[in-house]
Amino acid sequence: MDSLIRTETDQIAAIRILLVESPIKMARQQGVGHIKGTVKRVLLQLTSRDGITGWGEAAPWEVFTGTPEAAFAALDVYLRSVVIGWPLSNIRGLTQAMDRVLVGHHEAKLAVEMAMFDILGKRSGLSVAELLGGRVRDRIPLSFSIADPDFAADLDRMHQMVPQGNRIFKVKTGVKPHAEDMAHLEAMRGAFGDGIDLRLDYNQALQPFGALRVLRDVERFAPTFIEQPVPRDALAVMVDFRRALDTPILADESCFEIGDLQEVIRLGAADAISVKLMKVGGMLKGQGLMALADAARIPGYGGTLWEGGIALAAGTQFIAATPGISLGCEFYMPHHVLTEDVLEQRIENCDGHVIVPTGPGLGITITEHSLKDGARQLAEA
Ligand SMILES: [Mg+2]
Repeated sequence: MDSLIRTETDQIAAIRILLVESPIKMARQQGVGHIKGTVKRVLLQLTSRDGITGWGEAAPWEVFTGTPEAAFAALDVYLRSVVIGWPLSNIRGLTQAMDRVLVGHHEAKLAVEMAMFDILGKRSGLSVAELLGGRVRDRIPLSFSIADPDFAADLDRMHQMVPQGNRIFKVKTGVKPHAEDMAHLEAMRGAFGDGIDLRLDYNQALQPFGALRVLRDVERFAPTFIEQPVPRDALAVMVDFRRALDTPILADESCFEIGDLQEVIRLGAADAISVKLMKVGGMLKGQGLMALADAARIPGYGGTLWEGGIALAAGTQFIAATPGISLGCEFYMPHHVLTEDVLEQRIENCDGHVIVPTGPGLGITITEHSLKDGARQLAEA
């Protein structure tokens, strides 16, 4: 089969893998894996035989999906030989081939798929959203996460961001004592009233025993949803919350890929899901996940780990072409958290929305200059 579909000019001829580190502007307190100082990611450059380059990015988080060092090794040692010589005209086949030679490592496989679509787009003049079926939206509502250990700094940010059109704020609750969470929610509703869309994310912080009382308390602030209140395997408890509360429950850590979603649907454990390309391991797989979610009338939300501009460009293209992801996205890293990024120009944010790029491929430009300027390189292969 492979020999039949491979042609000379559309094969991948070269692969370049970079482990990079970027400083961040603000501390982030998430309940697990507090981030301060820097984040590490893997960047991937593929070049086709006719000289077109495409970019991908793997941005694992060690407490969530894996490590950047493991993604680097997966690409360098295990996936390199699969990717070299593979034709751009068969991305679906490549995702199957990668799954055959390597279990897990979703972020590394996603980086390959991303770079393949980027090249295919540049060759055809189409954006990745168009290659994924066509765009159903040109802009995506942007959610900013309230996760600074210094809440006063976050409140100051909100006072700057709300007049600029930002409406959605997701508060990382359960990190500080419940009484502090309540005081912060009171302060935010007091300052902005119904003018903001508040969401809460516990990042699995609550123990099931006693959690319902906590969630009943925070319901008075009318959150749009409560994300992952309890550990990822406590699905039966999430079923109970859905019965007891008016606020929708969103599954993040409980739902990585399609098998997880099947279980969520079977039990009735969530009203919505956070879709992260780093969890599901590909844009094609993400669309498969959302096809099942659509059938169960479960909307998606565009979540992130610590992606930079390349992966968030892919996320933006993916959401533009995936109707069911209707709850916005949290792609705020390049504008608000990373001090540097490897893109020549950041993806535009306007009126509290991420604007979907219209150029071919991922719609971004990376040069050797922007690459050198935009990230500290720790290793290259
Ligand atoms: Mg989350």
